[in-house]
Amino acid sequence: MLRSANARASLMSEAGLADLLRLHIFDALTLAPLLREAHLAEGRLMDVGTGAGFPGLVLKIAEPGLRVTLMDATRKKTAYLQEASAALGLDADVRNARAEDAARDPSLRDAFDAAVCRALGPWPVALELTLPFCRVGGLLLGQRGADAQREAAAQEETAALLGGRVLGVRRVGAEGGLEARHVVVVEKASPTPAGYPRKTGIPAKRPLG
Ligand code: SAH
Repeated sequence: MLRSANARASLMSEAGLADLLRLHIFDALTLAPLLREAHLAEGRLMDVGTGAGFPGLVLKIAEPGLRVTLMDATRKKTAYLQEASAALGLDADVRNARAEDAARDPSLRDAFDAAVCRALGPWPVALELTLPFCRVGGLLLGQRGADAQREAAAQEETAALLGGRVLGVRRVGAEGGLEARHVVVVEKASPTPAGYPRKTGIPAKRPLG
């Protein structure tokens, strides 16, 4: 489905599609054990900037009990996600929105047991766009690259400003034959202050930290 949709409306790079299983699907699945371990596999999960459904749609397939919201600002991507989840019979909440706006909706703010993001931008940007959706006590699982440990340490204060507490960085994927990947685990310790995320576009234009 993704391949044929991509031929119509480019949703992701052709290079990524060539190695879809390894680069995207298995990579998304590295979060499943972390969700199970935290007893969140049946929780409410928000994927901010899900693109063509990575990792959120893949996690919903792996863990059908998960109550998933897939959010993206790009309409052709959410249109594809609507089609794909209907075709797969998956009950996913697909939203075409910007995180800066959606985070002001009381039914979404401080509301999710877990929030995830992958390739949403520099770590402080990802924190600002994602943490507001977690409930207090919920977890942000940020999929990051090789620099995760340094980024997480450098932005501890940014996480704290947004109500988060960095619990640690997990190395995942290597045992499955993938290149080692990292997940920064942040607990939402207190509600995100009302001024965050800042207005549309500002988080990416002027990253915190
Ligand atoms: N998570 C996917 C896509 C990453 S590309 C993957 O790993 O393959 C980043 C995606 O985030 C794009 O689809 C873009 O439309 C979306 N995005 C960027 N800023 C956003 C924002 N402020 N609110 C919602 N979506 C955003």
